[in-house]
Amino acid sequence: MGQVLDCREAAKIFLDNIKKASLELKGKGINPTLGIVRVGKREDDIAYEKGILKNCEKVDIIGKVHECSEDINMDSFIKLIEELNADPLIHGILIFRPLPKHLDENIIKHIINPNKDVDSMNPLNLAKVFEGDLSGYSPCTSAAVIEIIKHFNIYIKGKKVAVLGRSMVVGKPLAMMLLKEDATVMICHSKTENLKETVASADIVAAAIGKAKFIGSDYIKQGAVVIDVGINVDENGKLCGDVDFEAVKDKASLITPVPGGVGSVTTAVLLKSVIKGAKMML
Ligand code: NAP
Repeated sequence: MGQVLDCREAAKIFLDNIKKASLELKGKGINPTLGIVRVGKREDDIAYEKGILKNCEKVDIIGKVHECSEDINMDSFIKLIEELNADPLIHGILIFRPLPKHLDENIIKHIINPNKDVDSMNPLNLAKVFEGDLSGYSPCTSAAVIEIIKHFNIYIKGKKVAVLGRSMVVGKPLAMMLLKEDATVMICHSKTENLKETVASADIVAAAIGKAKFIGSDYIKQGAVVIDVGINVDENGKLCGDVDFEAVKDKASLITPVPGGVGSVTTAVLLKSVIKGAKMML
């Protein structure tokens, strides 16, 4: 069996470093603070929020939740974001997505202050990701994949990496971040021909398609590294990834589990970005 990467343990180490940075900032009179904007009471938003607040507490970061009613209008929503933009005591803003249809994300993404945009929603930050410029913020999930690769010393320079999925939240920015690390990147999506053969030619597979256990062993080259970004619910109501873990684990050299994989690192990456935002106040 390949090695199952203990991402929870890795996340603990990341959180320890974040706590050190947070305490240092406190010593300089800055209390790192994240403003969370949630519209309505979607179950997965509330679960994500709980996880963030628990980790905020662990690392001495303040998490302030701004809950909006499901029917908040665009003007009031923009006003809230502008208030958070202007508040010197808020260093990072996270808006849970997807937003309800009447709140136009294409307008809001331009309004969030790029210096506080810890999940890289603003096109100015995304452009930096695409340029390989590390001065802005990267989308947390893509950045979590890169942190995992670095933490476990996975060699990617020149390697063939298949990224499955091309969303602006995960697949596309992840592909660009891998390119920055000198990987040879193939971006696969629902229209990719010969998907199985293409993915099976990769040394590293990063799956972000949102299809429970879709990637079986015939998609994986013997000894490949498998990073599963997917968070789905299987036929028994259990959390699972896009990869069929049981079918693939013996073929992969390294594999991330779900739960306990990329998702465990995502929140740590978010809080690292809050520290980055707070440091801008120095
Ligand atoms: P999304 O916006 O629905 O995008 C899915 C992507 O997968 C699309 O590009 C789509 O291709 C592609 N795709 C769908 N079915 C496919 C198939 N059969 N073969 C090949 N490609 C296919 O999803 P997302 O927001 O990127 O999220 C992807 C997964 O990551 C989900 O499971 C989500 O829950 C998970 N996620 C995890 C975290 C974390 O912290 N671990 C954070 C965010 C999301 P087209 O573009 O051609 O339609």
